[in-house]
Amino acid sequence: MVTEFCWVSELRIHRRPADAYGNGRILIAGDAAHIQSLFSDQGQNTGLGSAENLAGEVALAALGRAACRLLDTNEGERRPLAQKVLSATSTAVDIMLPSTRGKRLVRDKIVLPVLRLPLSSASCGWPPPNSASAAPVPSCRWKVGSNAGRCSAA
Ligand SMILES: Cc1cc2nc3c(=O)[nH]c(=O)nc-3n(C[C@H](O)[C@H](O)[C@H](O)COP(=O)(O)OP(=O)(O)OC[C@H]3O[C@@H](n4cnc5c(N)ncnc54)[C@H](O)[C@@H]3O)c2cc1C
Repeated sequence: MVTEFCWVSELRIHRRPADAYGNGRILIAGDAAHIQSLFSDQGQNTGLGSAENLAGEVALAALGRAACRLLDTNEGERRPLAQKVLSATSTAVDIMLPSTRGKRLVRDKIVLPVLRLPLSSASCGWPPPNSASAAPVPSCRWKVGSNAGRCSAA
């Protein structure tokens, strides 16, 4: 239990999409375009995704390999994902920061005990059963942004 504080601050959870992801030469990505609750750890991930997508399109347009109107496709490509994440993280806020006594009871008696179950290692299958603790971590391949192929053809 925490008994002493060095510094305390109020945390206000902002969660909303921007009305538009761009206007003329001004283009936005990351939290500026779609800020969401910190529950579910998705803010930076979706922000990096939208920045990568936008950077790829800006590069192609700047190099003359795609028409400038390619930049207009960024919002249509990224907003649906941001909306999904916003919706999921908002649900997480409603569960973890319940507004009523009944919901708090559900969180404390059902949700939190379930979250504390050792489910994560069982569901991801790592480490494999009976493996030595020093077993190497399997190599991972990053997915390359989906826009590259499409943009170069535009
Ligand atoms: C407590 C907490 C925990 C989090 N945990 C996770 C996590 O585990 N995983 C995850 O994926 N995400 C997490 N996030 C979300 C993540 O931190 C953000 O989504 C991410 O940092 C957004 O990056 P950004 O570059 O878009 O915006 P920011 O990091 O907010 O960067 C914007 C920058 O612009 C600067 N700026 C603002 N206005 C101006 C101005 N007028 N002129 C010049 N500069 C300006 C700001 O000072 C800031 O440096 C967490 C967030 C919080 C608050």
